[in-house]
Amino acid sequence: TAAKGGGGKGGGKQEDNKICPQSEDFGRWYLDIIREAKLADYGPVRGTMVIRPYGYALWENIQSWLDMRFKETGHENAYFPMFIPYSFIAKEADHVEGFAPELALVTQGGGKELEEPLVVRPTSETIVNHMFSQWIQSYRDLPLLINQWANVTRWEMRTRPFVRTSEFLWQEGHTAHATAEEAEEETVKMIKVYAEFAEDVAAMPVVVGRKSAAESFAGAVCTYTIEAMMGDKKALQAGTSHNLGQNFAKAFNTQFANEDQELQYVYQTSWGVSTRMVGGIIMTHGDDAGLRLPPRLAPTQVVVCPVGIKKEVPQEVADAIDTIAANCKKAGIRVKVDDNAKTSPGFKFNFWEMKGVPVRIEVGPRDVKNNACVTARRDVPGKEGKVFGVSLEEDAFVQHLTELLDEIQGKYLAEAKAFRDENIVDVSNYDELKAAIAEGKWARGGWSASDEEEKRVKEETQATIRCFPFDQPPGPHTCLMTGEPADEVCIFAKSY
Ligand code: AMP
Repeated sequence: TAAKGGGGKGGGKQEDNKICPQSEDFGRWYLDIIREAKLADYGPVRGTMVIRPYGYALWENIQSWLDMRFKETGHENAYFPMFIPYSFIAKEADHVEGFAPELALVTQGGGKELEEPLVVRPTSETIVNHMFSQWIQSYRDLPLLINQWANVTRWEMRTRPFVRTSEFLWQEGHTAHATAEEAEEETVKMIKVYAEFAEDVAAMPVVVGRKSAAESFAGAVCTYTIEAMMGDKKALQAGTSHNLGQNFAKAFNTQFANEDQELQYVYQTSWGVSTRMVGGIIMTHGDDAGLRLPPRLAPTQVVVCPVGIKKEVPQEVADAIDTIAANCKKAGIRVKVDDNAKTSPGFKFNFWEMKGVPVRIEVGPRDVKNNACVTARRDVPGKEGKVFGVSLEEDAFVQHLTELLDEIQGKYLAEAKAFRDENIVDVSNYDELKAAIAEGKWARGGWSASDEEEKRVKEETQATIRCFPFDQPPGPHTCLMTGEPADEVCIFAKSY
């Protein structure tokens, strides 16, 4: 049976060891979870993924919060075509250089060789600019704040479900502004929206910061990132926001007439969060028993199971379950009733635990007589301490559940934050950095060395600069590599 929780009783015939323990092989654990919880499956083309209903429901919850927030911050959704003329990609030199190795091209259509190959979009800056250059005439058309929900394709070499696939789902924000200051403000605003989502909704603590030049987006002036620590201490870049300056505007001639009727190039931003976020949630919160989903994103927040019965569910138990489910729904709690006669309570407990459902309610004939039921929390292992009776009186009970969900949400964030902070080491020289990385930890230290030195660290340790955090410790700082003064500290880590 799964490692934690009260499965055994009730004869649940869960097959043994379907999920590899994290400590044995984190990578295998991750793939086992994805298979067992039916989150995704492999597509027939290498690197592609089929997102199954449970994984898609999680993505939909991610989408709906972000979409709400994008609209609150003044953005509108639009849709651009998936096929982009190859010549568009080639227009911005850094962009084409960065993306060329990952492009998928269509060379035939309708049985005929195409005159110009089409790129299956890896990202949409080029086609967006093609349209923006037509839509933007004057300063009155600015700022232009667009978001698109779409799939994109990047021919990735090393793939892993959700984390890095060759086709993935995401949103891409594209904005155009009259001034460099406004574009910078927008870039920072949106990385902060991502950070807010990660911490408040996904319970995933993140370090917000600026990428090094080497790690920035191809074609950007500057890239901001949110970096999260996974359960194996590797870093995950969970979202990025780019200040594009006038790079694409110049390549596509995206100009506006200012108040003095002078033509100027717009300043632009783009920002994206993808289905990678689902992988981040799995690897931040999951344990050896399976998924642990933050209540605010869990497709099912509360599952209700009948217990202490033979075959048929007695009417009074069925009625009590109906009442609980109806009251939960009224209060906006995502509830599911599992009264499947073909599985035992023990099987059900293990199953929903593995699926990461935050709260389970058990209702038996004796409970109904006592106007009580038992609740179990996904975050509290074992039978002990997780059982307490609650009156079924509507308001108080639902109120209790709501508080419980909030408490679990808070606990997941606090646990992940404590784990992350324990595993960030302050280093003052390269030897200390190497030691920290060898232990699998994140190394934080002053940095003012060259791009070549950064590359050398990557070659020698596999760690890269994850970011220069916005939140800097008080200085002065010394470069860990050269001993020279440094304006900022950065974080080095191995990453996905
Ligand atoms: P980018 O436009 O390259 O900055 O990508 C935006 C975000 O999408 C990144 O910060 C990642 O979180 C995510 N992402 C990038 N490549 C992939 C991929 N191959 N699979 C899934 N997510 C990705």
